[in-house]
Amino acid sequence: MALGLPPELLRQASRALGSVLTPTTPVSIQRRVSDLTCGLLRPPRGSLIRRKSVGGVPGEWIQPPGLPSAGDGGSRGVLLYLHGGGYVTGSPRTHRAVVARLAAHLRMPAFVPDYRLAPEHPYPAALEDTVAAYRGLLAAGFAAHRTAVAGDSSGGALALAAAMAFRDDGTPLPAVIGMFCPWLDLTLKTASRLNPIPKDPLVILDQLRQWAAAYAPANAAEPTASPLHGRFHDLPPIIVHSAGDDPLAADADRLEELAREQGASLDHTRHPGLWHGFHVLAPVMTRADRAVRQFGQQLLAHIAPPPRVAIVGAGVSGLAMAATLKRAGIGTFTVHEKATEPGGTWRDNTYPGLTCDIQARAYSFSFAPNADWKTLYASQAEIQEYLQRVTDDLGLRPYLRLGSEIEQARWDGRCWQLLTTDGRRDEAEVLVSATGFLHHPSLPGIPGLDTFAGAVFHSARWDHSVPLAGQKVAVIGNGSSGVQITTALAGVAGRLTLFQRTPQWIMPTVNFSYPSWVKAAYRRLPGLHTASYRFYQALMEDFFASALVGPGWQRQAVAALCRLHLRHGVKDPVLRRRLTPDYAPMCKRLVLSAGFFRAIGRDDVELADTGIERVEPRGVITRDGTLHEADVIVLATGFDTHAYTRPITITGTDGVTLDDAWARGPYAYRTVAVPGFPNFFMLCGPHSPVGSQAVPPIAEAQAGYVLRWIETLRHTGITAASPTPQATARYNDALRAAMPGTAWTSGCTSYYLDAHGLPELWPWMPEKHRDMLRTPVLDDFTVHGGTAPA
Ligand code: NAP
Repeated sequence: MALGLPPELLRQASRALGSVLTPTTPVSIQRRVSDLTCGLLRPPRGSLIRRKSVGGVPGEWIQPPGLPSAGDGGSRGVLLYLHGGGYVTGSPRTHRAVVARLAAHLRMPAFVPDYRLAPEHPYPAALEDTVAAYRGLLAAGFAAHRTAVAGDSSGGALALAAAMAFRDDGTPLPAVIGMFCPWLDLTLKTASRLNPIPKDPLVILDQLRQWAAAYAPANAAEPTASPLHGRFHDLPPIIVHSAGDDPLAADADRLEELAREQGASLDHTRHPGLWHGFHVLAPVMTRADRAVRQFGQQLLAHIAPPPRVAIVGAGVSGLAMAATLKRAGIGTFTVHEKATEPGGTWRDNTYPGLTCDIQARAYSFSFAPNADWKTLYASQAEIQEYLQRVTDDLGLRPYLRLGSEIEQARWDGRCWQLLTTDGRRDEAEVLVSATGFLHHPSLPGIPGLDTFAGAVFHSARWDHSVPLAGQKVAVIGNGSSGVQITTALAGVAGRLTLFQRTPQWIMPTVNFSYPSWVKAAYRRLPGLHTASYRFYQALMEDFFASALVGPGWQRQAVAALCRLHLRHGVKDPVLRRRLTPDYAPMCKRLVLSAGFFRAIGRDDVELADTGIERVEPRGVITRDGTLHEADVIVLATGFDTHAYTRPITITGTDGVTLDDAWARGPYAYRTVAVPGFPNFFMLCGPHSPVGSQAVPPIAEAQAGYVLRWIETLRHTGITAASPTPQATARYNDALRAAMPGTAWTSGCTSYYLDAHGLPELWPWMPEKHRDMLRTPVLDDFTVHGGTAPA
């Protein structure tokens, strides 16, 4: 992150430096002042900088933080960066901070040659040194196709002129040429034609004329000194960034025109209101930092193209994955979504009264705060609107393939071959399943259900065409959905019967609307978002997650609250007894409600808890023989939470399907990967901390892990990676050993439990999940291809 000093202050500082870089200042002083002032800017912490000669040219070798020193050669890429300074001033020291930042974005080493300067060493000394350094890198083992040659101002011209020389003499070309504010025409014809000439705080044309005369007194019009005069065919792609106040932006504009005419590939980004060489200020200027990051991503797309990624599902976790990739500058992904809109469970569930029981500010993406949440707990409609807005605001829509339902995914040894239900094919090196766990409705096998004369539908497939006002409504199931539906329909339905198989503990809650001044405050003070997000996450984790995974005071407090709520919420002792669970609070997923006890106590609402025997055309018959007449039956009977990616047939190595691998129940490595399924990752997969944390932060942590794997594949040349059975077994043994202390094993049945009666949840604090996913542990993986970092 850049320090973010005010741009006006930085403009004044640049002007002060510009006042020294004038024709009247001796060259030695110009150099000393440039070195001293730019030396105040610091490279990212942990960058390793050492003097080194490459191809006989002295210079600085910059190793970004966390990169093993083995990066001196091999399949990793490298950046050759030519500093600017009009061929007369500038040095690796003046550009150390910005190049180190760029190297960190690229996760590659960079070499900045201390090329010979004019007037002591006029044309073509600087170009010769550039060419020698590039050839030196190739001789050291760096592949040309993984090398970027970039520079700024006169360094940009050196990068372009060198590439032209390589093209003409047959030297393998670099993957990409990059230029910041390039000075491409020493004759200054293009720039001096501007009217008026922009007022740049750093460069003036008189100074440039003096530098041009010092460097190439007799060769200014030659393409090797002024590449704007050259030809641009058969060159690598060119990335250019120019600044609006820089008269030399005219060179970049002209280059763009010529490149277009000559069919060269050039991508030009303009930065209005900024000045020549602004990017050097990246450590202290937010816009410069952003520009350098973007420049890095553009170079990287050519040096180390990211793998293609297929994401299945555009619900909360699929959107988190897509946003994570997009924010990291990776655009090689497709989100396959079988429905016609993103949103997942928030799109599918539209039942009356649906409100998320996690505070809206916590049920949000950390990277997409929303000042306009209307209430503490948001309604389904508002969350769905938020997810759609995030999709649009982050520019994710072009990556969505709506109506694309993946039926099969098969690893062919190189990539995932995908087949959709309508016969379309796609392929991707990385497959991410983000299919959610509250997706496939669980329909009860109640005898006679199909004979019912009225409407029957599941809570997640609400039939809004069915009138409910004044009708006799039967709600089967009293989980979070059944309780919210009952509360919403009490008083609307003519008569409502709630069929309860097992009583639920109900945690009291309150909801309220945010006044407009709160929304205004959130809009104006971004720090408020961070503070409230952290507060609610801490509440979820330090209180609820602690209560779930350990028998501490938090669990006692939750239990006491639930019991108090029941005692005070239900005055009728008989009804209270029927609503009292015989297991400890939190064993099943806690239901949160402010109004359920009021609703169930109404005269027009009935609790039926003697067990359902069958359904007949007129209604539901319970085991005590009572017929509960109904016009509509709502099945609030939950979901098949153990389906995960299914029914997609996923086939890994040796023809083994995920169904085969999971024959004894779903399992994973650290919730995200499965042995035998290379480059396959799951979000909200088996044992994710879904019982103790909101889904968005879980998905963000898992998406971050997948991104780190994608970056690893990209930078190391590893083509396939899947966890070893041993590492996976070790992790699952530890999971099992940790389960007995959790609330979910305290003697109840719930959808949390697997076929063996063990919770399919995270038995530790959520922080441990994040820790486990912070960095891929390569020793836990079987990898193919590439050079793995040490
Ligand atoms: P659920 O918690 O699985 O509840 C299903 C209900 O249906 C239970 O009461 C269950 O009884 C009953 N049931 C299932 N099969 C039955 C049968 N054959 N006969 C009679 N009763 C039967 O499902 P849910 O209420 O849809 O909630 C699922 C999850 O979605 C929640 O745990 C929560 O994670 C999420 N959710 C969240 C919100 C929110 O506000 N954030 C809202 C709704 C849902 P038993 O208890 O006896 O099995």
